[in-house]
Amino acid sequence: MSRVYNFAAGPAALPLEVLQQAQAELVEYPGLGMSIMETSHRGKVYDAIHEEAQANLRELLGISDDYAVLFLQGGASTQFSMVPMNLLTPGTVADYTNSGAWGGKALKEAKKVGQVNVAADCGKEIPTRVPRPEELRLTPGAAYVHITSNETISGAQWKVFPKTEAPLVADMSSDILSRPFDVNQFGLIYAGAQKNLGPSGVTLVIIRKDLAMRAPETLGTMFRYQTHIDNNSLYNTPPTFGIYILMLVTRWVKGQGIEALYKRNVEKAAKLYAAIDSSEGFYKGTAVKEFRSDMNVTFRLGTEDLEKKFVAEAAAAGLTSLKGNRSVGGIRASIYNACPMEAIDTLISFMGDFAKANG
Ligand code: PMP
Repeated sequence: MSRVYNFAAGPAALPLEVLQQAQAELVEYPGLGMSIMETSHRGKVYDAIHEEAQANLRELLGISDDYAVLFLQGGASTQFSMVPMNLLTPGTVADYTNSGAWGGKALKEAKKVGQVNVAADCGKEIPTRVPRPEELRLTPGAAYVHITSNETISGAQWKVFPKTEAPLVADMSSDILSRPFDVNQFGLIYAGAQKNLGPSGVTLVIIRKDLAMRAPETLGTMFRYQTHIDNNSLYNTPPTFGIYILMLVTRWVKGQGIEALYKRNVEKAAKLYAAIDSSEGFYKGTAVKEFRSDMNVTFRLGTEDLEKKFVAEAAAAGLTSLKGNRSVGGIRASIYNACPMEAIDTLISFMGDFAKANG
């Protein structure tokens, strides 16, 4: 086998065991005589997968019956609109935090729907960071407060979530299932699947059920959370194969244990940051230390030419997709749950050799 160490930001590396099981079941799912892709989303076999995916998430995150677990489409980007369309009713104000590229996009879409207060703005700061909970200037009686738990591009992450009176809404696309947290602190959580949950094409939404009732009557059926709650995410045809893979990933996470995964994620990130910080300035981290992401490790080299050389030589050594997002440049190592410790150790060893040869 010649699988590389894949540091892509998303779609990202999936656990090998999951891919192997999907491969084994691809042509003929046990007892079905066909693949999962070819079977009805209203049949018994798919139903068991759909239910297990939800049950695994409920168990892993301790999600109570007050919340619905939904599998939607359109990516996290669609949630940037769907959240305000459902929750930001006329006459109310939503508090948004601008923490970078993704928080900024969520904010931009909310402004198209209703009245928005920017509760904190560090979106353009360098080094990059997210707001501190105590910095938030919140609106009394706000419809909700929106945060981006991990800024995938800048590599900055909320370490402590703010305690808010208004329902807290979080884009957790790039760090869901990477660490334990209290779902009850949130009104709504959304995440595109393609980092820690499965393939692209599925969007996870965890919503406190009472919030879905706010949506105006005029809102289209597919855009209402209530539609998907009432129909158990089966109002229309869901992305069945993606949900099947998500189910296998959640099974894998259960096998690992979320606390153990968290411990390993912290250790992986700490090792990489230590390699950056001990490079005598050859590598420079781009995020403020206290906010450094455990999922997306971002750094720069002395020149863009040197960064190009780093990315190319790393790829030749089997360490792929280390190029930073096109909007910011630099280097980004995305090290989600499925990224093994060996990938980190190999990258650190490569970084040492590269610094020696080019320093
Ligand atoms: N939010 C965050 C934090 C992301 O990282 C991404 C994608 N990388 C998005 C939103 C957009 O997700 P999608 O492509 O699924 O719309």
